[in-house]
Amino acid sequence: MNAESYRFKVGDYECIAVCDGTHTYAPPDFPPPNILLFSNAPGEALGHTLRQHNLPAQWTEWISPYICLFVNTGKHRILVDTGAGGLAPTTGRLLQNLKAENIAPGDIDMVIITHAHPDHLGGNTDEAGKPAFPNARYVIWKEEWDFWTSGQAEQKLDEHSREILMGYARKNLLPIRDQFDMVDHETEIVSGIHAIAAPGHTPGHMALSVSSKNEQLLCISDAFIHPIHMEQLEWYCVFDLIPEMVSVTRRKLLERAATEKALVLAFHFPFPGLGHVARKGKAWQWQPIELND
Ligand SMILES: [Zn+2]
Repeated sequence: MNAESYRFKVGDYECIAVCDGTHTYAPPDFPPPNILLFSNAPGEALGHTLRQHNLPAQWTEWISPYICLFVNTGKHRILVDTGAGGLAPTTGRLLQNLKAENIAPGDIDMVIITHAHPDHLGGNTDEAGKPAFPNARYVIWKEEWDFWTSGQAEQKLDEHSREILMGYARKNLLPIRDQFDMVDHETEIVSGIHAIAAPGHTPGHMALSVSSKNEQLLCISDAFIHPIHMEQLEWYCVFDLIPEMVSVTRRKLLERAATEKALVLAFHFPFPGLGHVARKGKAWQWQPIELND
């Protein structure tokens, strides 16, 4: 297995989890991981949970992969999220990792953006501001597009993140607006690919269901940033823009994953970000797939 791509199948569809690189979240640029990931967690419960996960109480840095998804349905070649571009020296590896799988940017005919954060749309455009995937229609939830292009985001974001987030949105949305299609309700985008409303992390955050034959893949994107969020549905992270929506969306996605026995893909979980969810009391537990190499 190439450490930055992982091939698997969903029914007849060929899928690849493709890494765009990793990003280290640590002070002084970010709050410590405990605060960043579990902003509202009560200290004692958090300490207990961290110990269960063999994480130190004074956790100093969180290294997150950025995991995009390629799906070949036979009819369409779809990319879900485009990574972070040059956000950090360790990001922006998507195109070379696709190339290593013999996939050229021009082969992609649809790019689905789960939400408009830098790590998910940073590879939408090239250095000249042109679409990085010239033959693709780009798809985003309409509320997400409106939020980032109408001034709402500027008002909502705090000073610390406003500049970088707005910079990425400006570079990667409006210049390629003619390439974009909007989704405003839960619908089948193309055969076998369903859009699922998953607000909370951002207003128009979108999850996806990929289904072929009797198999399902549920792409949860940033509804869960860390596996602990599956056990503690109420603990949100500093990037969650509508905290009160977060646990509602998480429950909805987990119920769906459990009912469908779906394979789940999480953008920020340890690579390849694939696993299943198991009920554990009132919450759930992440069960990563076993890698045999
Ligand atoms: Zn993210």
